[in-house]
Amino acid sequence: MPMIPAAHRAMTGRLDGTAALVTGASSGLGAATARALAAEGASVALVARRQEALDEIVSDIERQGGHAVAFATDITERAQAVAAVQRSADRFGRLDTVVNNAGVMFVDPVAEAVPDEWDRMLAVNVRGLLHVAHAALPHLLRAAERDPRHVADMVNISSVAGIKTGPGSSVYSLTKFGVGAFSEALRQEVARQHVRVSVIEPGSAQTELRTHMRPEVRARGHARAGIERLDPADVADAVTYVVTRPRHVAVNEIVVRPTEQQE
Ligand code: NDP
Repeated sequence: MPMIPAAHRAMTGRLDGTAALVTGASSGLGAATARALAAEGASVALVARRQEALDEIVSDIERQGGHAVAFATDITERAQAVAAVQRSADRFGRLDTVVNNAGVMFVDPVAEAVPDEWDRMLAVNVRGLLHVAHAALPHLLRAAERDPRHVADMVNISSVAGIKTGPGSSVYSLTKFGVGAFSEALRQEVARQHVRVSVIEPGSAQTELRTHMRPEVRARGHARAGIERLDPADVADAVTYVVTRPRHVAVNEIVVRPTEQQE
């Protein structure tokens, strides 16, 4: 009987029997990722602050035949982040995939910046991510020892701003370069235990991200106005690719830009 190459195996249900947790799942890239992982058969815990938005996505996933649960959580509060991870693991009995996606972006030249916005970026993009990553790691290590896949994944959503920077992006880039540094160190620490740590660096995507910026900042426009941006599902595709590789294949990093994005 000829061996079927992994790439040619069935394209659905590749995460059957596994459980995932996605932060920032109430909108944008996180919502699309939660839907995509559920469509592959994972039971998914959706984590963000807005209960109502989460509940709608959970209902949608369940209507499509998937399994999902919502845990309204502010990940900047360590106790809440830890509780969300624990409740997810309790609910599903395991945690195979964690997508650290929640994030905020405020762009401004340093001289004009509002330090409260810096604090929020540091709190969500860095501290919040660390809270979830630290709480989830023991569960990922345990899942990697067990069926069905003998591998587990932490996927951290950085940004093109996590590999290059420019005017206005100083502190957002600081947080996203930090995500890259943390991810690479952790990757090396847990590689031999079959926990893969990956970073996705998206370019401009059509989400709520820019809507949180001050009106005067938004009014200035930006370099990527007018280009065809990524759809959240495009980034969810990249995450799905990473977490559905065979256990000996670790895709450590993916940069995914809109075709027209130059910088
Ligand atoms: P959205 O604003 O649509 O989504 C951000 C998500 O983060 C929301 O679900 C929000 O949920 C959640 N969130 C914010 N603060 C907290 C908190 N304190 N606790 C828990 N959840 C929180 O933006 P995107 O989907 O675009 O952003 C997702 C990630 O992608 C971010 O890390 C962003 O930096 C990154 N990214 C986005 C790009 C883009 O162009 N859109 C490009 C590159 C990277 P809630 O408000 O309900 O808490």
